[in-house]
Amino acid sequence: MKIDVVTLFPEMFDGPLGHSIVSRAIDKGIVEVNRVNFRQFGKGKHQVVDDTPYGGGAGMLLKPEPLFEAMDSINERDPETKKRVILMDPAGKPFDQAMAEEFSEEEHLVFLCGHYEGYDERIRSLVTDEVSLGDYVLTGGELAAMVMIDASVRLLPNVLGNAASAQTDSHSSGLLEHPHYTRPADFKGMAVPDVLMSGNHGKIDEWRHKESLKRTFQRRPDMLVKRELTKQEQQWIAE
Ligand code: SAM
Repeated sequence: MKIDVVTLFPEMFDGPLGHSIVSRAIDKGIVEVNRVNFRQFGKGKHQVVDDTPYGGGAGMLLKPEPLFEAMDSINERDPETKKRVILMDPAGKPFDQAMAEEFSEEEHLVFLCGHYEGYDERIRSLVTDEVSLGDYVLTGGELAAMVMIDASVRLLPNVLGNAASAQTDSHSSGLLEHPHYTRPADFKGMAVPDVLMSGNHGKIDEWRHKESLKRTFQRRPDMLVKRELTKQEQQWIAE
């Protein structure tokens, strides 16, 4: 997979791209991440990328030309790839696990990171998706893009040490994940449930499913609205 991040602050990506799982995916050649600083396409001696809004009002807007030229440079470098161009925007569709799964199947993702008061509206004609990290306003799109890159790259084949772990993660299965325990079996009087030490994998799977369902019901009942529960699942929730 190829990823381009179009940003005024490419160095912000050093941390997330330079450590741990995403960094290893880059080293292994599973994903290539390019940072395109669109300041280089800014106008005049000062490489200006922003301007005041027509009609007045607070804040500065990103001008269309530098972002269009940044996209041209990506298309010239990689004319053949099928691109998903994603605008970081608090007014966009909320990002979720299903979207991360979709993104992880794409050939080439391009993240456009905004700043200041936002974008000139015509920039939207460049994009295939407008996506929000959540219902709050960040100072820029970089943190949102980092989260989306991390969530998508970890789903690529051979990125996680244990691919099965991604399938049982919260939100992947439509439920929150069940509780986990590791050694010691008893810690400050808090004991590990017997079933997990029983060696009976059928019972362990059943316990995990039940706990997963109960946790989802208690914390995120909205996630169960569209799910048809079996009789057994309904009983577990009612317990
Ligand atoms: N005036 C804009 C509005 O009310 O929608 C907010 C602009 S914000 C200060 C600057 C930039 O940060 C946005 O253009 C976007 O790229 C990014 N950003 C802020 N919050 C975001 C969010 N929740 N999700 C994704 N990107 C966000």
